[in-house]
Amino acid sequence: MEHLSERINRMEESTTFAMARLSKELQEQGVDIIKLTLGEPDFQTPQHIKDAAKKAIDEDETFYTPVQGNSDLITAVINKFKNENNIEYSDNQILVSNGAKHTITNIFMTIIDEGDEIIIPVPYWGTYKEIVNLAHGTQVFVEGQFDNQFKITAKQLRDKITDKTRAIFLNSPSNPTGAAYTKKEMKEIADIVKENPKILLVSDEIYEHLTFDGNHESFAQFDYIKDQLILVNGVSKAYAMTGWRIGYMAAPEWVTKACKKLQGQTTSGASSISQKAAVAALNTKSDIYKERIEILKKRRDAVVEELRKIPELKFNIPSATFYFFIDFSAFYGRFFENKQINTSKDMSMYLLREAKVGLVAGSGFGVDKCLRLSFTEDVAILKKAFDRIKNALDNLKK
Ligand code: PLP
Repeated sequence: MEHLSERINRMEESTTFAMARLSKELQEQGVDIIKLTLGEPDFQTPQHIKDAAKKAIDEDETFYTPVQGNSDLITAVINKFKNENNIEYSDNQILVSNGAKHTITNIFMTIIDEGDEIIIPVPYWGTYKEIVNLAHGTQVFVEGQFDNQFKITAKQLRDKITDKTRAIFLNSPSNPTGAAYTKKEMKEIADIVKENPKILLVSDEIYEHLTFDGNHESFAQFDYIKDQLILVNGVSKAYAMTGWRIGYMAAPEWVTKACKKLQGQTTSGASSISQKAAVAALNTKSDIYKERIEILKKRRDAVVEELRKIPELKFNIPSATFYFFIDFSAFYGRFFENKQINTSKDMSMYLLREAKVGLVAGSGFGVDKCLRLSFTEDVAILKKAFDRIKNALDNLKK
């Protein structure tokens, strides 16, 4: 008899992966789908990073690695935090894992006891919610408002803190909105964290290098919360290395030590070859991603231009990442043939089948009015996608 654990039955599949899989299946059947679903642009991993990995293979770097990560990568991570975020860490505060998703899993499985409350801003990246669930924590959602680019305010945060609050999770720049908190907004949040010494602030800054307007602001700058701060980062987004699976964290030593224990019993140290590639990536001069930011910025501006042609769609202009989180709800209630579109899932399925464009339903991010679009293809493809979307939306009947 098939029997699955209650914990896995409670877990929802990643909406992004589900939609990406469906788009790919249709593509494989010969349907001309434009996939704007995944969190990875069409960029290649830079050559010198690939060369470092090849060298690692040739030099027989093919054995188990230390659970915490290779010492050269830990040094590169420490230097990254020092040079880019102006915060000093020692070796035993760093842990390298198999992608930032794994880092986040380690953290939540380590710090949450049953019933502990974790504050999660909405919209959220779906993994946060599911991993808190897996760890038997209680998710406490704070709804960001569209007019504030979906960012939460310090007041909203304060109102949610109780005796049971264990951690606050923040992701700036954000997936799915592309919004970034300002220094002032961050300081107000840091001050609340400081007032509550039992609370940890987990800050996922994986999109820090994909910032178009101004520089990235990190929670690392508020040194008075360093004892409560866990920084999550990785090489996937900045260096086009999603498949290499390297993420890392910096935290108070007691947290890192416990995460390391968990990792030692579950996955062990990250891939020896990927770690060598990650060293090459972190030691890269910043102009590598600057070039790519210019390309992304052009794409972002092209999407804005296209979106303005469909006045019913509401959107904020992302200041970072490669995502738009677009409010399609003006079209809800309309019909295609006899089928009514009522939810973000209905809309994403409709656009996939009729417009042949893959977008991700906002329900997976906690906001059913919206769909997420990744501007991970070039401008000509994006324009073609919008021609199709516009056409499909025009075909919906009231
Ligand atoms: N954090 C956020 C907000 C993300 O969007 C992603 C990937 O989409 C990750 C973390 C995980 O990155 P990775 O596991 O590839 O390092």
